[in-house]
Amino acid sequence: MKKVLRLNPSGMPMHWLLVEAATTLYSKKLVLWEMGEQGALMRGGYNRDGERSMLDISPVIATKGHGKSMKVRSFSNAMLFRRDNYVCLYCGQIFFAQELTRDHVVPRAQGGADSWTNVVAACKRCNHAKGNRTPEQANMLLLAVPFTPNPFEYLYLTNRHIIADQMDYLTKQFSSQRKWKSG
Ligand SMILES: [Zn+2]
Repeated sequence: MKKVLRLNPSGMPMHWLLVEAATTLYSKKLVLWEMGEQGALMRGGYNRDGERSMLDISPVIATKGHGKSMKVRSFSNAMLFRRDNYVCLYCGQIFFAQELTRDHVVPRAQGGADSWTNVVAACKRCNHAKGNRTPEQANMLLLAVPFTPNPFEYLYLTNRHIIADQMDYLTKQFSSQRKWKSG
């Protein structure tokens, strides 16, 4: 386990935490509840007798504080390509990340935003063919509607090393807009 999934007290995902940072939350007694079995065993503080305690860190923890919900605005190409399952949304073929580009459905030149709902994964060839046109103008059909990931999907997109317990928690709240690959 590389990272711990941190939730707010009501179970909304907040962010990924390094195991060391999670250990600190445990020792400060900020962990309200925890889930999952394949966690990590970490060394805690020393007691009066000079013995070091061991802490069992769970893969999913809900903690006190920091209750504000996560912003899902910024995103990298890697996250975009993962949202679209490495499929070019114009020709429908699967590509390696380095063969894909970020296509603005409504081109930036025509006032299109750099937002989740206006960008799709497109292969270089399709992106070039489309140029500075909308799909309608280019007569190229968009195979799926781009969507903004919810916080569960967003955290899925930002971590490539999600373990089963964490995946279980996240996928329960995935929207049905796209078929998501596990892991
Ligand atoms: Zn293509």
